[in-house]
Amino acid sequence: MSTAAKPEISVVIPVYNEQGNLPTLFARLYPVLDKLGRSYEIIFTNDGSADQSSDLLAAQYAARPDVTRVIEFNANYGQHMAVMAALERVRGEVIVTLDADLQNPPEEIPNLLKQTDAGYDCVGGVRQNRQDHFLRRRCSQLVNFVRSKTTSIEMSDQGCMLRAYSRAVVDGIVRSGAVNTFIPALAYNLARNPTEIPVSHEERHAGVSNYSAYQLVRLNFDLITYFTTAPLQLFTIFAMLCSVGSFLLVIVLGTRRLILGPEEGGIFTLFGVLFFLISVCMVGIGLIGEYMGRTYQVVRARARYNVSHILEAQS
Ligand code: UDP
Ligand code: MG
Repeated sequence: MSTAAKPEISVVIPVYNEQGNLPTLFARLYPVLDKLGRSYEIIFTNDGSADQSSDLLAAQYAARPDVTRVIEFNANYGQHMAVMAALERVRGEVIVTLDADLQNPPEEIPNLLKQTDAGYDCVGGVRQNRQDHFLRRRCSQLVNFVRSKTTSIEMSDQGCMLRAYSRAVVDGIVRSGAVNTFIPALAYNLARNPTEIPVSHEERHAGVSNYSAYQLVRLNFDLITYFTTAPLQLFTIFAMLCSVGSFLLVIVLGTRRLILGPEEGGIFTLFGVLFFLISVCMVGIGLIGEYMGRTYQVVRARARYNVSHILEAQS
């Protein structure tokens, strides 16, 4: 069961300031995998943690070098880049992703594997009794709704990171070389035979969520802009309707002036219309900027992340 040989299962876990969770995670995760009786590896990516996470991971590597690999980033590049770095290095045939904060119970992994054994190449967890803030849950629902209307991706719970993929799907994700990507949605696009299963969800074991409201907004913009240009198209249609409307308004005002003569009374209405149109323009420019910014990131091809070192047994 050494990582040097090709293991059957690769478990991928991003870690950012999780010192309060790692000991419990190790204590629960390794027994679950040991009990499977199948070869496995666990790849932790330390995403530039500022706490003791790095030391804890190194100690765990020392304790179980046969099945543990640790990728150390030099700085914080975000959860999805951390997962990506691990996906680029997995050796297993089935890949499971999991959060380090124990919101996704490791005990659910065998249930995911039952589905991959049955031939599904992308198994999504759907969190039951989700243990997050009310506001966060409502926002998730909104994004799920927008996504289902603007893309062809059908997922009940895109935010759940407890998932399993076949090697082919993971290879596809890696080949896409995406810069800011939402891995579950990308995987769904690449899958031939996706399925979903309910998984339990727990409260964060220790610490607080690493996502601020701002980061969540950025993340969801990534999701929508990566998979569809629908916002741009909707905006264009809306802007066209607005210009038709304003053109008609100009004709009405012009005719009125010719027939009834000039009037001052309507000046505020005009201001109102003007402000409205300006705001529409601003939204449009912002939207275009969103796509441009992302295009720019891809075009300049800067390294998406930097690895400072890797702890692993030589293969
Ligand atoms: N994470 C990461 N880099 C980051 C933020 C988070 O690797 O910049 C990891 C974190 O350690 C955890 C997972 O991503 O394993 C999910 O993060 P978190 O629990 O903060 O997000 P939430 O559950 O609130 O969505
Ligand atoms: Mg969490």
